Amino acid sequence: MSKAKFELFLSDLNTQGCIHCPNPLADMKLWNTHPRVSLDVLSNKDGAQCPYCGTVYKLKTQFKIKKLVLNS
Ligand SMILES: [Zn+2]
Repeated sequence: MSKAKFELFLSDLNTQGCIHCPNPLADMKLWNTHPRVSLDVLSNKDGAQCPYCGTVYKLKTQFKIKKLVLNS
């Protein structure tokens, strides 16, 4: 099982705060290797792991927001 990990921006998520796996942002060798699944990244601050391929999707927007606040 893959242990790949991808850090995402908020803009990479859909309107439900989820991302699909396999995903164009990830390694495309994974494409079509398992059914498309929606992962709730917003609700899992430690990262949402795909139950099929084990890829972890993690949001890094929190750091971005913090930086923006400090710069304003
Ligand atoms: Zn997957």
